[in-house]
Amino acid sequence: MAIVVQKYGGSSVADADKIRNVARRIAEKYTKGEKVVAVVSAMGDTTDNLLDLASKINANPEPREMDLLLSTGEIVSSTLLAMALHASGFKAIALSGPQAGISTDASFSRARITGIQPRRIIKELDRGNIVIVAGFQGMTKDKDITTLGRGGSDTTAVALAVSLKANICEIYTDVEGVYTADPRIVPEANKLSEIGYEEMLEMATSGAKVMHHRAVELGQVFNMPILVASSYVEKPGTIIHGGDNMEARNKVRGIAHDMDVAKITIAGVPDRPGIAAAIFLPMAREGISVDTIVQNASANNITDLTFTVSRGDLKKAMEIVKPVAHEIGAKECLSNSAMGKVSIIGIGMQNTPGYAAKMFQTLSEQGINIELITTSEIRITCIISEDKIKDAVKALHKVFELDKG
Ligand code: ADP
Ligand code: ASP
Ligand code: MG
Repeated sequence: MAIVVQKYGGSSVADADKIRNVARRIAEKYTKGEKVVAVVSAMGDTTDNLLDLASKINANPEPREMDLLLSTGEIVSSTLLAMALHASGFKAIALSGPQAGISTDASFSRARITGIQPRRIIKELDRGNIVIVAGFQGMTKDKDITTLGRGGSDTTAVALAVSLKANICEIYTDVEGVYTADPRIVPEANKLSEIGYEEMLEMATSGAKVMHHRAVELGQVFNMPILVASSYVEKPGTIIHGGDNMEARNKVRGIAHDMDVAKITIAGVPDRPGIAAAIFLPMAREGISVDTIVQNASANNITDLTFTVSRGDLKKAMEIVKPVAHEIGAKECLSNSAMGKVSIIGIGMQNTPGYAAKMFQTLSEQGINIELITTSEIRITCIISEDKIKDAVKALHKVFELDKG
């Protein structure tokens, strides 16, 4: 019998009533004779609250202790969900990530799953248990607890679906599916009935947090279809899949935005070989991921170098970059943490001119200054001031006619 893997996000298990609602939904599947594995996120804002608490205790907490702390959020929700099922007379067992057999590398706070040994899960299913797995966590070979990056419970669910050979991975959340833009910013946004992995991956990496980007990546690699749907209402959601994309021809499919962007500019950089490596190597060593990089054409062998990192990494990045900038004789090092990025995404844009011009014109009509631009084959991204992001998303959604169902 096929195994059903479901995932319920933080807002879906935010309080006792919501946990009971999730228990009822899981029990319904189980009563139909299905074997259910349910992955849960931490309740509501638990992860943010734990981060906040840690920052009051220590400005630079050890990554190992931080991950062990954050992993407790999902332990709480998974055990309470199992208790809710017990209270209704169902057999259920809660497992932590390590108990569920999830192994990861040792990159604390953004660990990658290196393997899953699902023996225990299968044993519990065979005993007639509903299996509840704490999302977002795993264990290194040295038995340290790791977390998978913000939003990482989606990745736990897709990885388990692959390992347990489920037909589909069901992600239940507080919206009814994947929309043409964040429905909280654009009320006219339309729900997509389906979207290909490639477009969904660009949406997720560009900030559409409805799916964790690594979960989409895993889905794509193992061709695991993913359903995104509401945990409150019974309505068809969005299927993320690898098939041919009928709706995708010749158009923008979605607008994504991300408010978590900080910009660093190193001004007056001598233009000679090895400079970029001198700046970016030490950051890579510290695990800081750099997003957009722009280097201006040099005048008199002096250039400016601008790049973006997430806001949480800004302080550390500046600590690394400032001495390097001084060493190489750069003039100054400036930063701005109030940036955001807005992207248009669609495989229909491939090899079709005109999309970039239309995007830039729309932003200029809104009086929005574009600071940096990056593109992929199927995406155009502009880095702009954070306070203009909402206007930009709304205007682009309209101009590319995504409000027209
Ligand atoms: P969960 O806690 O269930 O994992 P998240 O908060 O991580 O939920 O993701 C769901 C949220 O993603 C929605 O509430 C919505 O505001 C946001 N979101 C951003 N972009 C999109 C989009 N294109 N479609 C749907 N939701 C989106
Ligand atoms: N609780 C974690 C977070 O808030 C993981 C998740 O929700 O998927 O990022
Ligand atoms: Mg999420």
